[in-house]
Amino acid sequence: MNDLVVQTECGLWCEAGGFYVDPWRPVPRAVVTHAHADHAIPGCGRYLATAGTIALMRSRMPGEIEADIPAFGERVRLGRTTVSLHPAGHVLGSAQVRIEPDDGGPVWVITGDYKVEPDPSCEAFEVVPCDVLLTESTFGLPIYRWEDPAKVFEDINGWWRSNAAEGRTTVLLTYSLGKAQRVLAGLDASNGPIGVHGAVLGPTGVYRDAGIKLPEVMHADAQHAKDLKGPGLILTPPSASGTAWLRKFKGPGGIRTAFVSGWMRVRGRRRWQSVDRGFTLSDHADWDGLLDTVRRSGARRVGVTHGSSETLARYLRESMGLDSFVVPTRFTGEGGDETETGGED
Ligand SMILES: [Zn+2]
Repeated sequence: MNDLVVQTECGLWCEAGGFYVDPWRPVPRAVVTHAHADHAIPGCGRYLATAGTIALMRSRMPGEIEADIPAFGERVRLGRTTVSLHPAGHVLGSAQVRIEPDDGGPVWVITGDYKVEPDPSCEAFEVVPCDVLLTESTFGLPIYRWEDPAKVFEDINGWWRSNAAEGRTTVLLTYSLGKAQRVLAGLDASNGPIGVHGAVLGPTGVYRDAGIKLPEVMHADAQHAKDLKGPGLILTPPSASGTAWLRKFKGPGGIRTAFVSGWMRVRGRRRWQSVDRGFTLSDHADWDGLLDTVRRSGARRVGVTHGSSETLARYLRESMGLDSFVVPTRFTGEGGDETETGGED
């Protein structure tokens, strides 16, 4: 059978359209689902992606980026296909890719990373009907079921308030693109000043320019240390945990650190033993979100990629009677919990 989209050594390739989706090597024509570094690489000849994705890529990558920037839902001709992008609810600009071939064959949808929960910092996820769905499965195990994000934010704000009352600076360790801005959007700025690591500043500016409402932040540098010590909250990538930079913000009562990550659902990981709290907040669909999306898409064939793909593919086959298959992903060369805690979640 000639599939519309196949996995190659450069990534997902659509021959009829003459393009790759989220290629992992430079190619002439790339359709990009979202701006995370493992999906959007520099050096491609021409990109097709949403305005949010291209703005985030331009803020991070040096040099010119040649791009076509359709609106969500706009139909674009590529080769012998019509392509459109639909909100994936993962980070600003994140999109699913719908591909309709001219020959009347099956319509494919490639989800990229997605979540189905509400998130005021990006466009809301939409189910896109299709014949073949290629879904991610980062958290494709039944143990992953997310709490209501409103409750998680209540816990974060309450914890910050009690830390501030005792002169302890609050530190949240989050991924710098997407998760940090989602957390910002949910913070109660009346608790105290908010400082962000340099890596969080750039993407936060792009979100603001895109019209996303976020509280005021200051760069967490030496100049602002005295404002942040005690009542302040600092958002930083996990790599800054335990550094001399972070110790500069220690309040009279000390410092309290928490991870904000989907991986907090898994206990006993080595890197989390050094933090005081964990808040489970993920930008990926949980088990129910994945199954619900598959069901509502109406797809009879489902490809599964990233994470626990074997488990999800087997469940779709055995419990839902679908024709499912695993789409192998690139070997990242990093193993175990380092990848999980250091990577996007
Ligand atoms: Zn992502």
